[in-house]
Amino acid sequence: MDFEITDEEFDEALEHLRKLISLNTSNPPGNERLACDYISRVFRLAGVPYEVVQAQSTRRMVVARLEAGSSRDDALLISAHMDTVPADEEGWEHPPFSGDVADGYVWGRGAVDMKHMVAMGMSVLVLLKRKGISLERDVVFAGVADEEEGCEKGSLYLVENHKDLIRAKYCLTEVGGFTMHLGGNIVIPVGIATKGFAWVRVRSQGEGGHGSMPVHNSAIVKLLKALKNLENQTLETRLCPQTMAFFTELAHYAPMPQNLALHLMTFEGLVPRLLSKVKDAELSRYFRAVTSDTASITMLGAGQKENCIPEDATAVIDLRVLPGRKVVDALKKLQSILGDDVALEIIKSAEPTTTQYPTPLWDIIAETSMKTLGAKGVVPYVCPGFTDAIAFSKAGIETYGFAPVALPPDLRFGSLFHGKNERVPVEGFKKGLEALWQVVLAYCR
Ligand SMILES: [Zn+2]
Repeated sequence: MDFEITDEEFDEALEHLRKLISLNTSNPPGNERLACDYISRVFRLAGVPYEVVQAQSTRRMVVARLEAGSSRDDALLISAHMDTVPADEEGWEHPPFSGDVADGYVWGRGAVDMKHMVAMGMSVLVLLKRKGISLERDVVFAGVADEEEGCEKGSLYLVENHKDLIRAKYCLTEVGGFTMHLGGNIVIPVGIATKGFAWVRVRSQGEGGHGSMPVHNSAIVKLLKALKNLENQTLETRLCPQTMAFFTELAHYAPMPQNLALHLMTFEGLVPRLLSKVKDAELSRYFRAVTSDTASITMLGAGQKENCIPEDATAVIDLRVLPGRKVVDALKKLQSILGDDVALEIIKSAEPTTTQYPTPLWDIIAETSMKTLGAKGVVPYVCPGFTDAIAFSKAGIETYGFAPVALPPDLRFGSLFHGKNERVPVEGFKKGLEALWQVVLAYCR
């Protein structure tokens, strides 16, 4: 085959991944400068043109672009966030910032979220340059900051201040591209939507006083009554076209009788009953998240002294909204559930995002996934969280969740994400790099 990646080049990419894991970019505080400086040095040595952007001195980002001869504006952007969630060492088989290779895995925080994509994306540009491959479309790599804390000092900053650097028609980022094992078949979910979110402060006020003489309308009592209304943490069951597409397409690849159950999941009225029958806890949580607007109570605060009834009490709710509804409307719904005794205030929010499919790039992703990841096909995937898609969709870039990696059947992607013992199989990483490389060659060459 033309332009094959050699074993040495795979090893080089793997070394990038190990090095990136060893650079602690836990967010907060982020400190993505460490990863940015490393990537910049690799690009400089390889002759890949790049620019460094910074929202703060420690929050640097790197954007590299290999230009096609033409002036077309249908570039492909590969974007990966360089920050990770924090990790304390307890409970890890290999320290979270070791980048150790053991038992066929690379271990460490960021292995699948998403330093594997950082290493793969930067390697793709280096290889294109080194092999002297001429391009019909620009290939862009963005190593961004601050995804784990809401993207403000990362992709949102890039889009607001340096839009020209990331101009592209399509973007590949998380979440998607991992192998899902379904009754002997492998399918690849590809992200086409992300849920919107609002982190909401709930506040109640009431009569205070000495704890020896209770009051019946204290702030804490009001808050507890309001939160009790939210016991199942769901605003309402609500299907969106993207979720319906996910179930419909997944049903194609599932064995009997799961295929029937998946098909029935496209009927809104049947969803709650079907959900109660899903035995797999991880799957059940995911299905619930993509079939409803949800509200998790994540923080509580009130009182400073054992014998004082406080006049204020607060909670924080993590509200998640499926496509097809604005965050402000979900907030109204939340208020109606909680009642009028509490006031709501948005701390941070972003609207849901959606991407068109199929497109020419989607077809390439599907074909490549079958060839390189052994998949029967791809399915559109709704991400219950937010990603850098909230920024790139604002810039009009069609953004797919595709950060390819092959996982063995017994290793669940969901358990690795933000979990202890985050790790990526060495062979799975190589297959992922091969898949990304083939997608880029097919689209940009
Ligand atoms: Zn991530």
